[in-house]
Amino acid sequence: MSKIDQPAGIAVDRGVRPLDVFCVAEDALTCHERTDDRHQEHGARKPFVGADELREWLTTQGFRCANNTLRHQGNGCNWYAYRRSNLSARTCECNDDKPGMQIVVTPSAMVLHNRLHESVEIELCGEANGVWWKVTAYSITPSDVPKKLADVERALISAWNALTPNT
Ligand SMILES: [Zn+2]
Repeated sequence: MSKIDQPAGIAVDRGVRPLDVFCVAEDALTCHERTDDRHQEHGARKPFVGADELREWLTTQGFRCANNTLRHQGNGCNWYAYRRSNLSARTCECNDDKPGMQIVVTPSAMVLHNRLHESVEIELCGEANGVWWKVTAYSITPSDVPKKLADVERALISAWNALTPNT
């Protein structure tokens, strides 16, 4: 994180969501957390709506939820879920020393031409050899997530472990 370009006390999360600007101590968040995560912990979260069954299932799988304040305004789901993977993974180069990579599940529900379109993205973000990466599985239907999550998580971690960017 550049400490030269930012005014004191302002830090830019250049990891998971590059446009997320927050005004907290710089060591308070890692690249794998969004400001929303901490807002939730401070009790300021809004009630979660949309894809309720998926959210409840993810909670039983050890995921935590946070408000998705950066969603498209037409998205009827106002949350995302995140969990650190137990699968062994190459170390992310950010200053986050925790083992394992974070997996983020983001649902969307949009009405297009009077039809409800629901889909889910499952994503891994991290820094390898000085390059930031997003590895994303998308267009998964919410009801398919319980049977696909384990395979998708394995594939995301495998792809992450296989990255060999030139520097
Ligand atoms: Zn990281």
